[in-house]
Amino acid sequence: MDFTNLYIDGNWREAASSERFDVINPATEEVIASVASADTADADLALDAAERAMAEWQAKKPRERSEILRKAWELMTARLDDFARLITLENGKARADAMGEATYAAEFFRWFAEEAVRADGLITHAPASGARIVVQHKPAGISVLVTPWNYPAAMGTRKIAPALAAGCAVIIKPATETPLTMLALMPLLEEAGVPKGLVNVLPSRHSGRIVDHMLHDPRVRVVSFTGSTGVGRTLLKSAADQVVKPAMELGGNAPLLVFEDADIDKAVAGAMLAKMRNLGEACTAANRFYIHEKVSAEFTEKFTAAMAALKLGNGLEDGIDVGPLVNASTRDKVAGFVEDAVSKGAKIELGGSRPNGKGFFYPPTVLSNVPETADCVHDEIFGPVAALQTFSDEEDVIRRANDTEYGLVAYVFSEDMKRAMGVCERLEYGMVGLNRGLVSDPAAPFGGVKQSGLGREGGHEGMLEFMETQYISAEW
Ligand code: NAD
Repeated sequence: MDFTNLYIDGNWREAASSERFDVINPATEEVIASVASADTADADLALDAAERAMAEWQAKKPRERSEILRKAWELMTARLDDFARLITLENGKARADAMGEATYAAEFFRWFAEEAVRADGLITHAPASGARIVVQHKPAGISVLVTPWNYPAAMGTRKIAPALAAGCAVIIKPATETPLTMLALMPLLEEAGVPKGLVNVLPSRHSGRIVDHMLHDPRVRVVSFTGSTGVGRTLLKSAADQVVKPAMELGGNAPLLVFEDADIDKAVAGAMLAKMRNLGEACTAANRFYIHEKVSAEFTEKFTAAMAALKLGNGLEDGIDVGPLVNASTRDKVAGFVEDAVSKGAKIELGGSRPNGKGFFYPPTVLSNVPETADCVHDEIFGPVAALQTFSDEEDVIRRANDTEYGLVAYVFSEDMKRAMGVCERLEYGMVGLNRGLVSDPAAPFGGVKQSGLGREGGHEGMLEFMETQYISAEW
């Protein structure tokens, strides 16, 4: 058995083309694995397997499906260390972040084990005709799941668990940078009792080609994507040809607002979490910091001190808080944002220069006085750089916070609840962290508005993304 091959119909197989690609450890730049690269012929085999397995899966009672998902949570929870190590190896994130991700990833199996038995419907009378309206939710069909490199485990389980709970079969195309974690999950799902063929994994260097191919197969009814807004748009266009149901978790440009009545220590702790969880490589990462001018000096000093205390290094070593970025191009992009902001007048409070040597490292960096014209105010930084600005007027800061095509998450720090709730409601975002730097929770509906996406993952809504509503108009 080789966990670096394709996983189709419960078997580990070479790609039909025999093609493979390398996976790199971002801390050392060493090749850690050579992985089979799927193409369209492999995708066809996976679709055939998914079709067969889905019939078997749908014949099971919701309680049986639920118990298999629950078992997956138990098994993954018992092996968090192994998953965390693999996540660090292929993604680079430090150990605490990797453990946090593995735990979060496992929790989706527990949450959706509980949801699997709660696919509720409705029976009522039509107001005029008096006929019965019977509404029920049914599995939507084979689902294609495309996931990013920043959370190699959690972005997969956040889709697999609700799809299986809903009664669907899935084909996962993990990110090319980080396919190993998803492949390593497969033996665990087998052990939990997931039937062969229900979950298939197709790492590939030809993402565009194989995903487009699958979205043109009439058996595919859902495409659930997490990644950049640009690729999301491409998939929406592909999905349009067969009107495949899309769920899109796309980019963000999160503002973080600290009002003059905030508890500054709480705001600094929240800002650290919102900025530095996953080294800033998160769609939820705080991208723009708006600090009220009356508390700006205190916040900047305390936040910079907290950033300075973080230890950078190989995430597998003890005592390391932050690891490398995922690859050279991400590191170069982050460095470019800093150079651009400084050239336009920003001041470097901390960091700002890349270390020499192996690994895609970039240090925790704080910029103050960042002008609105800086690129990092408008684009996702996706790295450990905090861009600080000040404000004095509530209306003005709400306008600036909403001035983006994105709408995933915003953060608000204020101890005046009347004001704080008013501000939250006026922010054009799918999620708001109020006096908290972390919004992700398997029990909550995660997702964005505007160009941050369509649909929600987690919560009660997460399973509905993989279901269709059927209405029967009946008389009896
Ligand atoms: P990406 O869009 O480059 O890649 C995401 C996935 O799509 C990968 O598996 C990739 O191989 C695949 N892909 C790339 N081109 C494709 C194509 N033409 N057709 C089909 N698949 C294709 O994104 P990334 O760089 O891996 O991840 C970073 C982005 O993801 C950021 O913008 C971030 O905000 C976003 N993200 C969003 C969420 C969320 O829940 N909203 C969560 C994590 C990351």
